[in-house]
Amino acid sequence: MRSATTLLREIDGVGRDAHRGGYSRHVFDPAERELREWFTERASALGLGLETDRNGNIWAWWGAPGPDAVITGSHLDSVPGGGALDGPLGVVSALAAVAALQADGVTPGRPFAVVVFAEEEGSRFGVACLGSRLLSGAIAPERAAALTDADGGTFADRAAAFGLDVAHLGVDREALGRIGVFVELHVEQGIGLVNAGAAIGVASSILAHGRWRVRVRGQGNHAGTTAIADRRDPMVVAAEAILSARTVAAASPTVRATFGRIEPVPGGTNVIPSQVTAWLDVRGSNDEDTRAAVADIGVAARDAAAREGCEIEIVEESYGGEVVFDPALRDRMSAVLGGAPVLPTGAGHDAGILASLVPTAMLFVRNPTGVSHAPEEGATDDDCEAGVAALVTVLRDLL
Ligand SMILES: [Zn+2]
Repeated sequence: MRSATTLLREIDGVGRDAHRGGYSRHVFDPAERELREWFTERASALGLGLETDRNGNIWAWWGAPGPDAVITGSHLDSVPGGGALDGPLGVVSALAAVAALQADGVTPGRPFAVVVFAEEEGSRFGVACLGSRLLSGAIAPERAAALTDADGGTFADRAAAFGLDVAHLGVDREALGRIGVFVELHVEQGIGLVNAGAAIGVASSILAHGRWRVRVRGQGNHAGTTAIADRRDPMVVAAEAILSARTVAAASPTVRATFGRIEPVPGGTNVIPSQVTAWLDVRGSNDEDTRAAVADIGVAARDAAAREGCEIEIVEESYGGEVVFDPALRDRMSAVLGGAPVLPTGAGHDAGILASLVPTAMLFVRNPTGVSHAPEEGATDDDCEAGVAALVTVLRDLL
């Protein structure tokens, strides 16, 4: 029987990013495919039956698939230069929990599966939780199919090359109808558990969260011969938008706004760009404050564009309102875990997508630095094993 930390070490070398540090594992790329194969091998070794659904999510069934199933799992993809645990910890913990339950002679009293959701981070095609959004109908399949990666390939192209039938992307009533309850274990992406002095916690809610693409067009020109007064420089507009995001978010106790990605065209040191695209991530504890912050940043960005003589376009790429996890399930889990702390998170998850459809819960494992989406993300071996033990306790209660 392999422990969660042993399983993590098995994939330690897969998808390392020499340039950024950490890992870059993106849906359907060679590293992510290797992880899918690894997961299939490990799940098969536990006697689980594997299927990949029409949207590229993997299900590993212990016994026959069926309705009212207990589902646990997470994702194997990462952000660019991400840590080792965001996603994989939930998957290896689920496998280790199955092994522990089998060793204890448990036979599930209801259908049970481990799931691996596709493109949770949205790092390749820009929409987070794409696999669970497609599964649940939270994104139209036509829109998903047309999403493009950095090389200009569409999700439909890449999914077809992977072997999916793109005519059947989208809401999967059969897969969805089988989920009776979903529990996702995840490394905490904050220091709530450090502050609480606890290895394990239960999630209460997820902040409202959206992504917006800000595209500014100006006049590409020579950095040496173009007088400042004659410029229509989209980089200056982007800079003002970025600063406004900080100002707007700093004025609200409930909002976080981030520009983490910017692409100038053509991207030359001695060239005034002709176009700059920047991506805005805004989260807040309620829809009203989140929407208001985006609107304020939009006003500042449009004002800056007007002053600079640039055109600006702001497009919402995704949005999800605040998610409150099933209170009865949350309280039940906290109780069987001996009063584990209950805490909110600012990070999005597949569990958040499914929460409006089925009873859904999350377990968090303490992260000593609180850093996530970066190589410094971590958890001690002891805390990882405490996470598995907690998941086993929760699954025993649910099964
Ligand atoms: Zn994650």
